[in-house]
Amino acid sequence: MIEENENLQVNEIESAREIAQTAQSLFRRGYSFGTAGNISVRVGERILVSPTNSSFEDLTEHSLSVVDLTGKFLEGPAPSKETHFHIALYEQRPEIRAVVHLHSTYATAVSCLPVTDPNDALPVFTPYFAMRIPCLPVVPYLRPGHRGLADSVRQAARLSPAMLLKNHGPITSGKTLREASALAEELEEQAKLYFLLRGSGEVLTSEQIAELRETSRS
Ligand SMILES: [Zn+2]
Repeated sequence: MIEENENLQVNEIESAREIAQTAQSLFRRGYSFGTAGNISVRVGERILVSPTNSSFEDLTEHSLSVVDLTGKFLEGPAPSKETHFHIALYEQRPEIRAVVHLHSTYATAVSCLPVTDPNDALPVFTPYFAMRIPCLPVVPYLRPGHRGLADSVRQAARLSPAMLLKNHGPITSGKTLREASALAEELEEQAKLYFLLRGSGEVLTSEQIAELRETSRS
């Protein structure tokens, strides 16, 4: 049973509802399971984040933790032990308003493969992946909750709104929660394609990728 937080500010309630709906939707559709993953939204100088040992399945607008921009606990239940890398992303990219971290199966499987390019872990098979994810950096392994992860995540965030924690799982971020969540889903599907194709898929050429990224910018 998660402790309830009835102290959200008025301007945070809509974001809290959106977090709960997104988390439940990700759980229902198999992107999250058990107590895996965490999710946060920045509202002004405060960050609403899923609590430690919580499941996306039963997250509600009343069950969120609140921390400040330094990660200091403010109210509600104890925040996820992985909150420090959410903070690192908000620090590094001030435009970011939402962060989603999953242990989704296929993206996590990619994170367990030997690293051939630490700045880009997946080949590009489809246009929307190319347009939404400029590259997929791999953050070197540290145990979950290790403070050093925040530094590596900050570096990776300079390159891309999506990354993989080595042998752990994906992190995505966006200007809205919808954007961060859609990126997490896009990444999971691309990772699934990668394994379905077993090395026999034809990737987009660098010219095709450049054209897509150019067009999506304009
Ligand atoms: Zn994790």
